[in-house]
Amino acid sequence: AFSADVVPQAPEDPLFGLMAAYRADNDKNKVDLGIGAYRGDDAKPWVLPVVKKAEEILRNDPNINHEYLPIAGLPDFTSASQKVILGADSSAIQEKRITSLQTISGTGAVHLGALFLTKFYNTSSQKYSIYLSAPTWANHNQIMSNVNLPTTTYPYFSANTKGLDFDGMLSALQEAPEKSIILLHACAHNPTGVDPTDEQWKEIAKVMKQRHLFPFFDCAYQGFASGDLNRDAWAIRYFIDQGFELCIAQSYAKNFGLYGERAGCFHFIAAPNDGAETAKRVGSQLAILQRSEISNPPAYGARIASLVLNDPKLFAEWEANLKTMSGRIMDMRHALRSKLEEMETPGSWKHITEQIGMFSFTGLNEKQVAKLKEESHVYMTKNGRISMAGLNTRNIDYFAKAVDKVVR
Ligand code: PMP
Repeated sequence: AFSADVVPQAPEDPLFGLMAAYRADNDKNKVDLGIGAYRGDDAKPWVLPVVKKAEEILRNDPNINHEYLPIAGLPDFTSASQKVILGADSSAIQEKRITSLQTISGTGAVHLGALFLTKFYNTSSQKYSIYLSAPTWANHNQIMSNVNLPTTTYPYFSANTKGLDFDGMLSALQEAPEKSIILLHACAHNPTGVDPTDEQWKEIAKVMKQRHLFPFFDCAYQGFASGDLNRDAWAIRYFIDQGFELCIAQSYAKNFGLYGERAGCFHFIAAPNDGAETAKRVGSQLAILQRSEISNPPAYGARIASLVLNDPKLFAEWEANLKTMSGRIMDMRHALRSKLEEMETPGSWKHITEQIGMFSFTGLNEKQVAKLKEESHVYMTKNGRISMAGLNTRNIDYFAKAVDKVVR
């Protein structure tokens, strides 16, 4: 019989534990560089102006009610999401070889995809692993383990160059058993901020094609990385052009600032030739999985995103908002690097501006991170990752000096 005594105490989620420690700190100079959420120069959360407009429209819409959405979500939202991620003129959309379900943000999309692959990609006699980058977003491991999808890793980050370990990554892909599943961060890799160049993506695609590897793109930062939605989706679109069958987890948490509203999408794109028929079958199974897990997705965030995505004027405003966020983060990267270089802080700080997106992998070690917290009330994850959005014109000098102190 089940006894609750056998349930062991689980450790606290490290990131959310860090947030709690930050909140409990009363120092007036404290700096929060932990969680990956955008902050304005005033260190406060930012509701995108275009989101405020969409909320106003929704408030005044007499047809809005609280009925259930369809199992696959709001149709206007999922179809617009396909165009955002693949481009409106994508062959995959024209040939109807894409099937899409609205999910509980990016996490739900990764989960739905993983669950589907466990059930239908793997069989009782043949089990493929999913390859995760080393390092990766910590939740990837938990999500895969929850659905019993075996994981393994491929090298990604070079501690030496603080850039991509491209050779290591390619050899791992070359040596992976045929048909293995490869999880790829579409842009703004979390936690390293290191992305392959276009030329490197081409080589990755080439090896993956040769080895019949299955790409699973996790796209949590489209438009947030470079400020350009198309640029940030380049790798995904290149793989589609190469005829891959693949899936995509798409999140609107960061690029719409809709973190808590849980707006996201899962897309399965079948290979060309008979793709429409495959997409239909896959979609029917995804709907059953979705029904058993969440019945149907939440409406509010998807309605906001859908309004913006389907209105050219609001869409243009969204793009401007994306430029504001990505631009401020790039400014902070340049400012931090130049301050460290001005002080002649030991080491090279080039990587701060070469890395992209929400995070920078600073290269600070666990001891230095602990010291930063104790001496300067600066909060970041143990691996030396900082959320760039936590820096602003008021705290960047303070932070740079604190780093200088622990590095010397
Ligand atoms: N994948 C990666 C790599 C992420 O960084 C995140 C956000 N931290 C997500 C997925 C999903 O986030 P959410 O569920 O909030 O959309």
